[in-house]
Amino acid sequence: MTRYVYDFTDGNKDLKDLLGGKGANLAEMTLMGLPVPPGFTVTTEACRAYLRTGTMPAGLLTEVQHHLRLMQNRMGKTFGDAADPLLLSVRSGAKFSMPGMMETILDIGLNDASVVGLGRQSADQRFAWDSYRRLIQMFGKTVFDVPGEAFEEELTAARSIAGVATDPELGTTQLQDLVHAYKKVFHQHTGRDFPQAPHEQLFLAIAAVFRSWNAERAILYRRQERIPQDLGTAVNVMAMVFGNRGENSGTGVAFTRDPATGRHGVYGDYLRNAQGEDVVAGIRNAVPLAQLAAIDPASHRQLLSIMQRLEQRYRDLCDIEFTIENGRLWMLQTRVGKRTPAAAFVIAAQLVDEGRITLHEALQRVTGEQLAQLMFPSFDTTAAPPPLTTGVPASPGASVGAIVFDSAAAVAATEPVILVRRETNPDDLPGMIAAQGILTSRGGKTSHAAVVARGMGKTCVCGTEELRIDGDAVTVAGRTLHAGDIISIDGTTGNVYPGSVAVRPSAVVRYFEGELAAHGDPLLSAVERLMAHADHQARLDVHANADTAVDATRARRFGATGVGLCRTEHMFLGDRRRLVERLILAEDATARSEALQTLLPLQRADFEELFAAMDGLPVTVRLIDPPLHEFLPPLEELTARVAHAEALGVDPGHDRTLLTAVRRMHEQNPMLGLRGVRLGLVIPGLFAMQVRAIAQAAAARIAAGGDPQPEIMVPLVGAVQELETVRAEAESVLASVPGAPPIRLGTMIEVPRAALTAGQIAGVAEFFSFGTNDLTQMAWGFSRDDVEGAFFGRYLELGIFSVSPFESIDRDGVGELVRTAVRRGRAIRPDLTIGVCGEHGGDPASVRFFHDAGLDYVSCSPFRVPIARLEAGRAAS
Ligand code: ADP
Ligand code: MG
Ligand code: MG
Repeated sequence: MTRYVYDFTDGNKDLKDLLGGKGANLAEMTLMGLPVPPGFTVTTEACRAYLRTGTMPAGLLTEVQHHLRLMQNRMGKTFGDAADPLLLSVRSGAKFSMPGMMETILDIGLNDASVVGLGRQSADQRFAWDSYRRLIQMFGKTVFDVPGEAFEEELTAARSIAGVATDPELGTTQLQDLVHAYKKVFHQHTGRDFPQAPHEQLFLAIAAVFRSWNAERAILYRRQERIPQDLGTAVNVMAMVFGNRGENSGTGVAFTRDPATGRHGVYGDYLRNAQGEDVVAGIRNAVPLAQLAAIDPASHRQLLSIMQRLEQRYRDLCDIEFTIENGRLWMLQTRVGKRTPAAAFVIAAQLVDEGRITLHEALQRVTGEQLAQLMFPSFDTTAAPPPLTTGVPASPGASVGAIVFDSAAAVAATEPVILVRRETNPDDLPGMIAAQGILTSRGGKTSHAAVVARGMGKTCVCGTEELRIDGDAVTVAGRTLHAGDIISIDGTTGNVYPGSVAVRPSAVVRYFEGELAAHGDPLLSAVERLMAHADHQARLDVHANADTAVDATRARRFGATGVGLCRTEHMFLGDRRRLVERLILAEDATARSEALQTLLPLQRADFEELFAAMDGLPVTVRLIDPPLHEFLPPLEELTARVAHAEALGVDPGHDRTLLTAVRRMHEQNPMLGLRGVRLGLVIPGLFAMQVRAIAQAAAARIAAGGDPQPEIMVPLVGAVQELETVRAEAESVLASVPGAPPIRLGTMIEVPRAALTAGQIAGVAEFFSFGTNDLTQMAWGFSRDDVEGAFFGRYLELGIFSVSPFESIDRDGVGELVRTAVRRGRAIRPDLTIGVCGEHGGDPASVRFFHDAGLDYVSCSPFRVPIARLEAGRAAS
């Protein structure tokens, strides 16, 4: 029979699939001999079974009871005992950390009898009653969906009756009254009494934690973080320890290094006389961890040494939750901690320096996504007004937007907004996703707002205590701002500015541009080292999509080793539109050839510049692709112009000629129409002119002492015969240009038929380049220009795909076409060069796929080049 329960002494950190991250790490800490309260983990498998059937799998409850007995023996206490009760926490914990997304219930086992017994165990009964009211509240909310406000209202009332400002000031009698009031609330909303039987509490709590996997906010979070929806959560049941037992007790969270910058030294918050999530929620202001050294030196020392051991064990930054009960330290959680992108690079390099990990491993600790975030701009502080106030810089970035005070307003907004809250909780998640940035008045770097924002790569400033938020206004530094007012927040410094502050490029971008040296800067030197190692490892080359010498030059600075796609159609825009018009309107061969003759030197000059910028490196020039009518005015505009002229009795002249041409060329589905290679076959001389321009430019570069390496790429080929015709024409042109170097000719693979007949095509093509935008559009049969607004939202919701296939390659469908084409192409021509030049070339997950598919290079926009380089290196190590 399947085993559903593992004691903490049975597991270890590698069992995350089964025990969830929290359970696996609690087991690991137990294994290390750290002070972890005893407990056990109910597996994710049990959760999946429960969610599938709606009932607890057979045998689970018996197993739970068995493990509970073991725990009781170890503790010398009985669960829910009236005199000296063992109490439990029931905690969610999935494979991937989802901070605050699912449920945890503390103090399970308390009832009307045991609360008295628990109270007698210490000098002061207060904490027992405080724990009991917390249980009714958490249990009510989690198990029976009693609205949180119902309890909050009673709590507020209790404070005002007692005339105190904070919860810890409530005395025993007041808490007893509160318990009474809470029980009433419970009955009102559930129609039953708060369950007094400890086992019933426990089983209901376990089921509720299972169900919390499917809470709306949890689903949303997983979608955002691309965590699979079918993993389920484990449930950890452990003995309670009490941080709310008085001033010698408390609870805290800490990081072994600064999760914002990566700087050395522990970092955390501690809250005296508090339980559970009080710190994480930022509900009361905690003190920095360093102050624990004065409050409880022995526990502080012990904590520091434990944190050091954890770092050694996990070989990475760890975060922890701990509780001190009457001077005794307990570890409640650890995991490899989330961190900002900058911290990820800095820490990876530090750990190499400390001899903890190899450069190889360091490369696996950073991602292309993180590098992308580091390439975001930041505020130009020289142009900024003095800040209104400064909060805790919790998640870097520079965001400007209109103030909104609640999640719904953020979701509804059409302009960029900053979500301004006292603190955030998981219900604010939709608003946090919608906002440019998050600003809170309470909580530190470990608050909910901070943790979630860092995970999403969103700007966040928290704990900005000077902010007075009151309904739909916020007062700071004597100024009152309202919803809709623009502010700028800096997640790197914590500064909050009035109005819109200008943004400037990132240091990492300036480093790549060669404007900043890496030396002496921890982040830039970490980036430099890891990029160098990535380049050393990578098997994929990274080329850039660049149409001009300026773009190519930048791409080269960013580390591109070629141009994988030069689109020639931009060379037909601007003033040159007229020349294209002449070509289209040409009525005979002479007129057409004249038009082409005027275009030739212009194209040649463009190519010469581009080849010079990429001297010594390959430049893949794609012959003209879009339908020619794109170079003419739109049909509606022309029709209106002609009608207007006729109405005035004026001769529309040239416009009428154009209109006739546009009508003649009109297509219902231009993207499936006369474009790409089809143009080359239908308009005599067009491709020949382009080939001649390329060859002449190369010859000129050679004459000037350069080393041009052009390649000619034919778009939209679906049949080998198309390519044969173009090749024959191109070869005769090339042979006729004196001084031209040998120039390779290849094709894009972007029509599904080309992928399937790649074996035939490879007989005529010296290289392939996957045009994955068109390939995706044609494989799925949806127009990439229309789908995003039309139905992708619904598709994402339904999980038909978890990310747009235009953003990240669809491995199963489009990917299979890619693999097929690679296989069939190389079978015919083993030295076939194969690359990709769609948007996917700069997408981290896709780069990995192209590596695995055996491509030679990816080509992407210049700004994505470093990201692709990093991912190419990671894919190969
Ligand atoms: P999350 O995953 O949202 O952080 P946790 O399961 O870690 O939720 O629990 C929430 C809070 O309850 C944490 O602050 C944790 O320290 C506290 N807590 C959990 N179990 C116990 C326990 N056995 N004794 C005391 N506090 C606990
Ligand atoms: Mg936790
Ligand atoms: Mg295309």
